[in-house]
Amino acid sequence: MAYRVVIGRISHESNSFSPVRTGIEAFGADGIPEGQEVFAHHRGTRTAIGGFMDLAGELGLDLIPTLAAHAVPSAPVAAAAFAWMKGRLLDGIRAARTAGRVDGLLLDLHGAMLAEGLDGGHPGDGDGDILRACRDLVGPGVPIVCVLDLHANLTRAMVGSSDALVIYRTNPHVDMYERGVEAARLLGGVLDGRIRPVQALAKPPMLPPTINQRTGEGPMVALLARAAQWEGRAGILRVGVAPAFPYNDFGEAGLGVVAVADGDAALARQAADDVAALAWELRGQFLKRLPEPDAALADAMGRAARPVVLADVADNPGGGGTGDTTAVLRTCLDAGVRDAMAWIHDPDTVARAFAAGVGGEAEFALGGRVEPAFGAPVRVRAYVHALSDGRFVLRGPQSTGMRMGIGRTAVLLVGGQRVEDSFAIVASELRTAPNDAEIFRFVGLEPSRARLLLIKSRGHFRASFEPLAAGGVIEVDAPGAASPDLARFPYRAVPRPIFPLDPM
Ligand SMILES: [Zn+2]
Repeated sequence: MAYRVVIGRISHESNSFSPVRTGIEAFGADGIPEGQEVFAHHRGTRTAIGGFMDLAGELGLDLIPTLAAHAVPSAPVAAAAFAWMKGRLLDGIRAARTAGRVDGLLLDLHGAMLAEGLDGGHPGDGDGDILRACRDLVGPGVPIVCVLDLHANLTRAMVGSSDALVIYRTNPHVDMYERGVEAARLLGGVLDGRIRPVQALAKPPMLPPTINQRTGEGPMVALLARAAQWEGRAGILRVGVAPAFPYNDFGEAGLGVVAVADGDAALARQAADDVAALAWELRGQFLKRLPEPDAALADAMGRAARPVVLADVADNPGGGGTGDTTAVLRTCLDAGVRDAMAWIHDPDTVARAFAAGVGGEAEFALGGRVEPAFGAPVRVRAYVHALSDGRFVLRGPQSTGMRMGIGRTAVLLVGGQRVEDSFAIVASELRTAPNDAEIFRFVGLEPSRARLLLIKSRGHFRASFEPLAAGGVIEVDAPGAASPDLARFPYRAVPRPIFPLDPM
């Protein structure tokens, strides 16, 4: 007989310093998929739930869907929105128990979701709260396996209320599907009585910026190699390294290592402590100095190969950025750069462009609206090249196959009426993380032909854009809610002392 397994996704990366608020509407302009819609949204996609679904048959799991809620990173989740989503998940588990029994839970959370009102009024550990509530509901005998993003801030509640946490191993995150498969297999092993996971968490006092947390280079390479060595040892099921999302201002922020052993708590502890000790040793390698916009642009224009990507890392909506800061764009436009492309979140500009119509020309004030401290709007005269409803499908290696809706979208050309003679700006009504080259292609632009691409992303764009950026990537230091210079942020709740905020 099949095992009845409840699945659900509640995913948000909360930036305590983001001016963008996070109500329930942030979790989907088209509503949050619930019940069977969860299957419809994820069937055939390279996501964790896609992985759960593909393994269900083989493992004899009868999956019972609850909800799949995901929002672009922004400020901590509003209390009502958090309560609603958590409530729907718990209701789904209760309903499944009423209909029969529940043998296990497979969850897809983020690990860096803060929710308002949890921590004595201060935004607190949303993922830990959800896992604890699930555990309280199903009891200790029902296994809970949970996939988490690599940017999780692992907490005692998350580890204490789950049987196994499965952290992404890639950054850019191109292994969501594989981690879903792995989580399903771990749960299957527990249900079949083949394994008995025990977990240990190690947290050295460090909060590395995200700028050098990629898994293709830098200190993560050594950390994941050490984790893999432990995974080669008998008795260790997996070792996950979560280098932290540093814009989570709460009491358990910081890099974490979670080791999962088969029945041997001491072995799990040994593995977690060993990898955490290596992380502490390598802490300095997580830091990186970036050029300011003019130096970055001069570097880009000096390169023969094209396109060059200027990565506006501090305004990464995928890290809580507003998506509408202007420092890098202004530098490029002031310098008269042409044959270039950029995306910006700007509903006012979209409305003006729709009013002007395709082929029209108008004055625009681009960006700079959400947080004046990050820079004023850029005033330009521009030609409306194309208009769109903003619907497309991701084709790059990350979340491949997921449908996107970024609201009405306009393509403006500054400096000319042909793409190659002008600076093309894709403006959308909704904020999105512009990580996939489809952000240009769906409106008819071909980014591989441009001289310069301005991308508001810290690192996830690399999976899609690096193969076409023959001129390379230049990360730029500019104002924004996701600046890699953590000294710029008014932390009040992270544990102190902590590297690199304090001399250690
Ligand atoms: Zn992440």
